[in-house]
Amino acid sequence: MNIPFNKPYLSGKELTYIADALSRGHLSGNGYYSQQCHQFFTHTYGFKKALLTTSCTDALEMAALLLDIQPGDEVIMPSFTFVSTANAFELRGAVIRFVDSQTDHPGMDASLIAPLINEKTKAIVVVHYAGVACDMDAIMPLANAHDLFVVEDAAQAIDSYYKGRVLGSLGHLGAFSFHETKNIQCGEGGLLTINDARFTERAEILWEKGTNRSAFFRGEVDKYGWVDIGSSFLPSELNAAYLFGQLECLQDIQNRRKHIWERYHSALCDWATFHEIAQPKIPEHTTNNAHMYYVVCKDIEQRSSLIQHLKALDILAVFHYQSLHKSPYFKAKYTGEALAESDRYSDCLLRLPLFYELDVDIVINALLAYEA
Ligand SMILES: *Cc1c(COP(=O)(O)O)cnc(C)c1O
Repeated sequence: MNIPFNKPYLSGKELTYIADALSRGHLSGNGYYSQQCHQFFTHTYGFKKALLTTSCTDALEMAALLLDIQPGDEVIMPSFTFVSTANAFELRGAVIRFVDSQTDHPGMDASLIAPLINEKTKAIVVVHYAGVACDMDAIMPLANAHDLFVVEDAAQAIDSYYKGRVLGSLGHLGAFSFHETKNIQCGEGGLLTINDARFTERAEILWEKGTNRSAFFRGEVDKYGWVDIGSSFLPSELNAAYLFGQLECLQDIQNRRKHIWERYHSALCDWATFHEIAQPKIPEHTTNNAHMYYVVCKDIEQRSSLIQHLKALDILAVFHYQSLHKSPYFKAKYTGEALAESDRYSDCLLRLPLFYELDVDIVINALLAYEA
């Protein structure tokens, strides 16, 4: 493809820091660069505790372990999301209760959560789709009233805010992704944010294969051993060094992505109206971190024809998320209601190329040349 959907950004500092990590002679996890990254996140965003993970998937799995999700516990989440949001809880034997999307946004409709809450409900997982915050002032009081935990799947939500508060800091736990398709990336990587001090100590233990190795390295205990369950959730210093090279350029990356996003948004306004295509809405309570530029087509035929039109011009646009409640894995288990909005986004949402080096006018002109 002449214009790919995504191209991982390289700031140029990554290799310098990887070389430095090599010369420091400590390449396994939780070394100098992991700590630099942790400090960046706690200083820049005020997260109480931040732990790098090998993916957002792993951060979500840690969250499910930390909340001590047991077989039969119920967890509420949107159907229109990536599999990992659900898989992390499915692995613990949870019963997943899926919620529909909003009519004017692919994010979960917070008003549909309350009817799903019962005595087995343990947690709500919110997904800040495209970096646009869920309505946390509706969700947190509801969760608190029923003693539920809230996990933010903030995979797409780096550097985005809800009413001035940074995403990933609002629920009990938050999970970010540094997969190569995300704004800030290190190939595969993630971050768990811990906003409730009850989970801090255990999070470090789960992270270090069920051992108290982190406390040992801080000199808090004189030997370390197996103290709990856990796994190898921490990335190597090579990944952390690469990531640090991106974090130093975060504002530049964000500014460039926002510029591309705004350009799409204004240039496609009349075109979208003419073709009965919806542009993304950014509610007043949230910022836009320009993770994604998508449009919502009037039907699946229009989306397929747009994809073909762009492909003929050597431009790759893609769609995503088949509703999880209809997935081959889950559909036989699903006993809830039809989720019409989620299905509509599955059929009609189209994601346009968005990456640092993109010449956005090529894509815009290609779209403007589309004839239905
Ligand atoms: C990308 C993504 C994930 C998974 O992130 P990985 O780092 O690839 O594990 C989870 N949830 C959402 C909403 C995502 O967009």
